[in-house]
Amino acid sequence: MSSLQGKVALVTGSSRGIGAEIARRLAGAGAAVAINYAGNQAAADLLVSEIQGTGGQAIAVKADVGVAADVKSMFDAAINRFGTLDILVNNAGIALYRRIEDTTDAEFDRLLQINVRGVFLTLREAAVRLASGGRIVSLSSSVTRLMMPTYATYSATKSAVEQMSRVFAKEVGARGITVNTVSPGPTNTELFTDGKSEDTIKRLAALSAFNRIGDPADIARLVVFLVGDEAAWITGQNIGANGGMA
Ligand code: NAD
Repeated sequence: MSSLQGKVALVTGSSRGIGAEIARRLAGAGAAVAINYAGNQAAADLLVSEIQGTGGQAIAVKADVGVAADVKSMFDAAINRFGTLDILVNNAGIALYRRIEDTTDAEFDRLLQINVRGVFLTLREAAVRLASGGRIVSLSSSVTRLMMPTYATYSATKSAVEQMSRVFAKEVGARGITVNTVSPGPTNTELFTDGKSEDTIKRLAALSAFNRIGDPADIARLVVFLVGDEAAWITGQNIGANGGMA
């Protein structure tokens, strides 16, 4: 029997990138998966068909994670369709590569809205609606361990996610729920490659012990481990998946 058979998972922002690979692998391990998307319904529907085509169960759910009413209806949709919710993966996020002196109020607010409020809203919902014994993994970033110019606002949002998760782990531990964060290093998705030259990508790849950037699968494998039975004693942790870069 697959390790996540009978479990139900919700992965935010999973129509592409790391989230899509997490959704794919959770389904491959037997979980029914709710694929949340913000705008790209076609990509979400395609992933649902792909998962169903391999015998898995999936639905696509539109929601902006930064909006409380959307988050509530996203939980409603997953629970109404599959009966329960055991696993929450907070993957949705946006990046900004900008020095503080050049960052506008609107850019700052948007980053906080999606990366911090988005996670706060899903955790608040999960506090009462995730099944006992459930699992929560939120995506941080290895830049919280580094001091890289242009990453101040982005890394601040991810530090907030890490700390909120550590505290939340203590708040929901009595129900057997684990709460962890995963910190990828540079990973081959549009969020990372957009606007970067090949030279910049090579320079960042050289910071890892293996002289390459990560693949979504490098991150998704860790997430699948953390939501499984084998990781029951791991909670309140931030785990790097970065090829040793930080
Ligand atoms: P990506 O841009 O490919 O995927 C992010 C997804 O989040 C997209 O599908 C996007 O539509 C969705 N999203 C954005 N705003 C949303 C909203 N308001 N509501 C719902 N969904 C929304 O990026 P990715 O690289 O796959 O990133 C996934 C996560 O990993 C992010 O949290 C990111 O910060 C983190 N991360 C990525 C890297 C990297 O190098 N790629 C490194 C460290 C951390």
